[in-house]
Amino acid sequence: MSETTMQRGTDPATAALLALDAKVNAPIYTSLPLVATRAQDVWIWDLAGKRYLDMMSAYSAVSFGHAHPRLLAALTDQAGRLSVTSRAMHSDQLAPFLATLVEMTGQARALPMNSGAEAVETAIKAVRKWGHTVKGIPDDQAEIIVFDGNFHGRTTTIVSFSSHPEYRAGFGPLTPGFVSVPFGDIAAVRRAITPRTCAVLIEPIQGEGGVIVPPAGFLKALRALCDTENVMLVADEIQTGLGRTGAMLACDHEGIRPDAVCLGKALGGGFLPVSAVVGSEALMSVFHPGDHGSTFGGNALAARVGHEALQVLRDERLCDRAQTSGALLTALLREAAHPAIADIRGKGLMIGVQFADGIDAEAVCHALMAAGIITKVTHHATIRLSPPLTIDADTLRWAAGVLLQVLDHFTAA
Ligand SMILES: *Cc1c(COP(=O)(O)O)cnc(C)c1O
Repeated sequence: MSETTMQRGTDPATAALLALDAKVNAPIYTSLPLVATRAQDVWIWDLAGKRYLDMMSAYSAVSFGHAHPRLLAALTDQAGRLSVTSRAMHSDQLAPFLATLVEMTGQARALPMNSGAEAVETAIKAVRKWGHTVKGIPDDQAEIIVFDGNFHGRTTTIVSFSSHPEYRAGFGPLTPGFVSVPFGDIAAVRRAITPRTCAVLIEPIQGEGGVIVPPAGFLKALRALCDTENVMLVADEIQTGLGRTGAMLACDHEGIRPDAVCLGKALGGGFLPVSAVVGSEALMSVFHPGDHGSTFGGNALAARVGHEALQVLRDERLCDRAQTSGALLTALLREAAHPAIADIRGKGLMIGVQFADGIDAEAVCHALMAAGIITKVTHHATIRLSPPLTIDADTLRWAAGVLLQVLDHFTAA
């Protein structure tokens, strides 16, 4: 970020905070020059008291809105009772949480972790061990097929198969055992399968990659191919899961059940890092005591909040609301047929708006911020419109109007 952008905060408190951050924070992000201090439902306030509509929801981590009253109550109640014990003992919170989780996802067992990347790492360990012990792939030979443009997190193993050079550069030696093929290309997956293939790992909609939706029928074809070839299908639904796309899981749109699903982000109710792999008995039973673990994974506080989050999702019919709200927002933008908009993609409230050539998407985000809307750019000159699923129709209409107005300035210029 340039110095001038950094200094744009006019009030002294904001300027001081941005200056301190620039000095002590490891410079891994180009954040908007906004210092958030409070948030409620779909709104965030900055230090100067200005209110913004949150159109990012922390990449779905805040899908239920900021400080959801039921989730806040569960968090504070549980924090005063029991939070962290380690898995050296059981808690009265974990098994009930996982029972609801496997029931709502149609899977057999769940393995709780904290961050999304840890859930993906867990799935990688599971399918490799399955490949070795069940499929009979020689040890150290298992291959996992992934997709160009993927995003699965930032650990060394996960960035090893990223197709974004900047995610990998300088972080080697990288982890082998991954083969990347074009997203949505079933023939390419078929060609890439060998007797050493243990799994295919896919985001049902690529989020970071630019909100890319695969061709209709692709997930179904992938499921059939994996069945024929005795290959595990792992869906990374860390961003797409838990109602974001208008269904419990994005895979539900094609009626397929993966062998394992990675969940995270929204699972923490907007309060905590809570992730999990939910999977079939055949896959999850490869794990034995000592194989894997996490000090904080599945702690009582995380389990209570995660459990409440699942109940809020169900009780507030947030899948249906994401479906309806996403259709409304998409229709408002499509009807406007704005010359600055080249493409609108997505499902439910996971929407990407790609701009026409020559429109600076970063500059649009800064103009939107000035107009009271927060969002960020993904790849391919695309911004995300992914508000909390709790957003109402009037707020969506307001947001669409503001976006179109802001874009007028860009086309006029
Ligand atoms: C965010 C994300 C991850 C990584 O989750 P972290 O909690 O940041 O580690 C993995 N996969 C997908 C699809 C994501 O969107």
